[in-house]
Amino acid sequence: MTIGIVGAGQLGRMLALAGYPLGLDFLFLDRGPDTPAGRLAPVLAGPLDDPALLGELARRCDIISFDWENVPVEAIERAVSSARGGSAARIARIAPPLRALAAAQDRLAEKRTFERLAIPTTRFAAVDSRAALERAVASIGLPGMLKTRRLGYDGKGQQVLRRLEDLDAAWQRLGAVPLLYEQFVPFDCEVSIIGARARDGSIAIYPLNRNFHHAGILRLTLAPWPAPRLERAAAAALRRVLQAFRYVGVLAIEFFVHRGRLLANEMAPRVHNSGHWTIEASVTSQFENHLRAITGLPLGSTGPRGHAAMINLIGEMPPARMLLAEPGLHWHDYGKPPREGRKLGHCTIVEASAARRTARARALLARLYPDLVPLVARARAGRVPPRAGRAPPPPRDRGRMRRGAGAQRAAGERPGSRAAPMRRPPGP
Ligand code: AMP
Repeated sequence: MTIGIVGAGQLGRMLALAGYPLGLDFLFLDRGPDTPAGRLAPVLAGPLDDPALLGELARRCDIISFDWENVPVEAIERAVSSARGGSAARIARIAPPLRALAAAQDRLAEKRTFERLAIPTTRFAAVDSRAALERAVASIGLPGMLKTRRLGYDGKGQQVLRRLEDLDAAWQRLGAVPLLYEQFVPFDCEVSIIGARARDGSIAIYPLNRNFHHAGILRLTLAPWPAPRLERAAAAALRRVLQAFRYVGVLAIEFFVHRGRLLANEMAPRVHNSGHWTIEASVTSQFENHLRAITGLPLGSTGPRGHAAMINLIGEMPPARMLLAEPGLHWHDYGKPPREGRKLGHCTIVEASAARRTARARALLARLYPDLVPLVARARAGRVPPRAGRAPPPPRDRGRMRRGAGAQRAAGERPGSRAAPMRRPPGP
């Protein structure tokens, strides 16, 4: 079976690496052949909305998927339906569904999806004129974040507004395209949840990830993050989105944790950077589960094999020799040319305890990115505001992970911590 993937970046590359043992072949579409996935599989090179190239992808592949969400939805729909009308023996199916992609491409549609599914999110307002920006700031207040509705990622296309005097410069910088103004959340920490839905509707969800961003870019993920009530609330939200879209494949939702409550920030209809640790530290990686889902295979266990820390390697790759001397370190080089702020690779360590994992993550950061060490120091300080109460027992498939008071304390949480429950949805 051949999987066609629009986008041939590092996510596509890791999908291919997970798919070859399943006996899958891959064909990518990207702007040029010199891409991370292009070192592993053939690439159709050209514009992502080129009807001829999309048609060829649709004809040559059994299933079409994506390695980033900003793919041209209408062009893909047209190309696949005309391939269906043709005599091609192979007829591509699209997964995840384009409706989910369209919702995730536009921050306004995304927020409305969260609202419709009763998933708490930041207060927001659409901004399409200078007057609308003033109205949004008057109603939501300052500070706030002004973001482009489309094509924003890794902190790009967004600006913090702290004072009324910031409006002019922000409008000058971003005002040419439709925008969204949202409340600035002085969050305690950021978490994400990742799961897969198969064609038969079954769902498998990974443990909660605790994420540390700097300048809008994910730098470190610690997982599983032992915050059982937050994990349950995040999983409930994810399940709701997966079911509402009759989703097939892997989906991620990122949240702010604010006063013990989750506020959804955004969703990614694809494998996610905060799930890279699952390659070594889960029974089945997010990449394999995405492929299992879209090809109609049963999902694999999302149970963890240990406590993982994943550090993104940004801007310039450190010497492999130095990091590979670290016992048990897993090294991923995407083969991309260095550039400031660019994700070039990542490394993962897996430890038997959360305390050891966090300590090693801190030591690794001190060698790689000393400026970021305070990020993890905050993790130790227990910044997830807990509520009193007993922590529930771990889910069944995580029986091997201890989540007692000691593990919680070591991971930066107060023992027995709980977060506020989410409102129940009216039912999508
Ligand atoms: P985004 O591209 O929306 O995921 O934003 C990237 C990062 O910027 C997030 O992970 C946060 O660290 C930060 N950020 C985005 N929106 C907000 C917000 N409304 N309040 C506080 N921080 C934010």
